[in-house]
Amino acid sequence: MKATAAIVRNVGGRFSVEEIEVAEPRGSEVRVKIAGVGMCHTDLVARDGFPVPLPIVLGHEGSGVIEAVGPDVSGLSVGDHVVLSFNSCAACPTCEEDLPAYCHNFLAQNFAGVRLDDGSSPLSQDGSVIHGSFFGQSSFGSYAIANQRNTVKVDKDLPIEILGPLGCGIQTGAGAAILSLGLKAGQSLAIFGGGAVGLSALLGARAVDAGTVIVVEPNAARGALALELGATHVIDPGATENVLDTIKELSGGGVNHALDTTGIPDVVAVAVETTIAHGTVGLIAVPPPEAMLPANMMSMLVRGTIIKYITEGDADPQTFIPQMIAWYRAGKFPFDRLVKIFPFDQINEAAKASEDGSAIKPVLTF
Ligand SMILES: [Zn+2]
Ligand SMILES: [Zn+2]
Repeated sequence: MKATAAIVRNVGGRFSVEEIEVAEPRGSEVRVKIAGVGMCHTDLVARDGFPVPLPIVLGHEGSGVIEAVGPDVSGLSVGDHVVLSFNSCAACPTCEEDLPAYCHNFLAQNFAGVRLDDGSSPLSQDGSVIHGSFFGQSSFGSYAIANQRNTVKVDKDLPIEILGPLGCGIQTGAGAAILSLGLKAGQSLAIFGGGAVGLSALLGARAVDAGTVIVVEPNAARGALALELGATHVIDPGATENVLDTIKELSGGGVNHALDTTGIPDVVAVAVETTIAHGTVGLIAVPPPEAMLPANMMSMLVRGTIIKYITEGDADPQTFIPQMIAWYRAGKFPFDRLVKIFPFDQINEAAKASEDGSAIKPVLTF
């Protein structure tokens, strides 16, 4: 069937909104009429050169309504409202351990641009291949082919057009705080970076009734939003002589856990020193390719510091997305405060707003 989609044809090029053909779902695939799709940093990394085959339709925070199902699909039906998340193989040791974010086949499942069984793409244009299956969805389009495994059914009374970011960016931040760091009620957390992932970690921290939560963020508007969302303190690193000393002062000697969402080695070096004994330092961002961990080993030894790199917040989307929705319904997880809506044909403007910091979580709607 015909669909409108944003195609990337050249590394670093613009998103080009064009008409494409979307195949019938087969096997355990579903075809989803996309209501909204978030823009995540990884879409821009892929546009700008992370190895994906071109031309391709990106987009991996889609949400919408199932419009057709393949013959092997169970538990999902036409008309269901769904959130799409990352894909995984279901068969490797970490998938079997319920840690699909560390699927041994994660790169192929999410970045190959084709179906892995036969190398075909569900997308085409005038008979030519357009790569799809990005994160098992390619949802920068009015229709997307996803898989039963990365499709999560949600209630129909929710605002479906803004739910897509629960499938990646928001899940990553909230999952990092709660699942990866194991943040408990009353514990303290320092978050470095107040973008979509950092503020989602803050939402997660509030949802589990964390104690002191300090957000380090130079952008004043984002800092102000962090305070509204429940940060106990915001530190502007540009206006603070010693960020480490300030965090120790505000937290009574150090925080239980720290989370870096910047990927900047100099920032990570501070984050590693902020935690008290047996604290966990979570690292999420994509670092510069040559970066090494800037950490003093003796300092880590005496504190028993745990350093953990995190993918997708360690979450299993099939359980964690319903959990975030339950908190949202209870008024404890106002992720909608991070969202800025753009019409789909303004996808390049949304990308620019994401890059210049004027939108925290752009969501494109149809
Ligand atoms: Zn797997
Ligand atoms: Zn993402």
